[in-house]
Amino acid sequence: MDAMSETNTAHRPQVALVTGANKGIGYEIAAGLGALGWTVGVGARNEERRESAVEKLRAAGVDAFGVPLDVTDDASVTAAARLVEEQAGRLDALVNNAGITGGGPQDPTTVDVDRVRAAVETNVIGVIRVTNALLPLLRRSPSPRIVNVSSSVGSLTLQTTPGAEVGPVAVAYSPSKTFLNAVTVQYAKELADTNILINAVCPGYTATDLNAFQGVRTPQQGAAPAIRLATVPDGGPTGHFFDDEGKVPW
Ligand code: NAP
Repeated sequence: MDAMSETNTAHRPQVALVTGANKGIGYEIAAGLGALGWTVGVGARNEERRESAVEKLRAAGVDAFGVPLDVTDDASVTAAARLVEEQAGRLDALVNNAGITGGGPQDPTTVDVDRVRAAVETNVIGVIRVTNALLPLLRRSPSPRIVNVSSSVGSLTLQTTPGAEVGPVAVAYSPSKTFLNAVTVQYAKELADTNILINAVCPGYTATDLNAFQGVRTPQQGAAPAIRLATVPDGGPTGHFFDDEGKVPW
């Protein structure tokens, strides 16, 4: 980083990009970071919902800008990275929140394999695609953070613990989060000697479209772990999995 950009970053607010920020947990992550004074890129593919989220955030005093983004599409992700560069010049936190269940039913013996493919494409490959496209901007930050929004249903430890709460049998969604957890560990290992901290979080069972609003936590509560890890101070954890109560076993 040259002297000029160091001077610039010292006086500028922190900048975050939240994927899937037009509703649900992602919207509340954007709102929470915005309330802390961050500038927030609202990454979302649905234009109407993206624009109304940006308007709502701005009305609440948040410095928000819309970022058209389909995490499954190379060109869209490349354009999103370019837009963030134009708008903000760097990125301090990337929150990979966009996710899908893949739809149901997901019994392993009868599943439509396209459900598995779709869940992995969005929840895993989408995260890798977005992270790598945004890494050059993250590297310009003095304290870059990456947060991957996973789920405790992806914990193999919990899945194999009798009596643990891990949702229904689901061969697309749950293993896609296991895969995402494994990917998070690999990034943490490669980036261990850098100032980039990368962690996975579980929002808890949260009332959103994803579960037809069956969840028991509010989207604000679901957003809390991601906000905490996006703003964790230098020297904080990397390569771990957290929920509101602390570490979640892989
Ligand atoms: P949600 O309300 O359905 O929101 C999902 C978001 O992801 C939407 O903004 C959606 O955008 C976006 N998205 C999906 N596919 C995308 C793509 N290809 N490109 C860009 N954006 C895409 O669900 P949520 O509950 O807030 O979920 C947020 C994250 O939390 C997910 O990763 C989910 O797996 C995780 N999670 C949720 C719970 C829970 O209980 N709700 C529990 C554990 C983990 P569109 O509007 O364009 O579809």
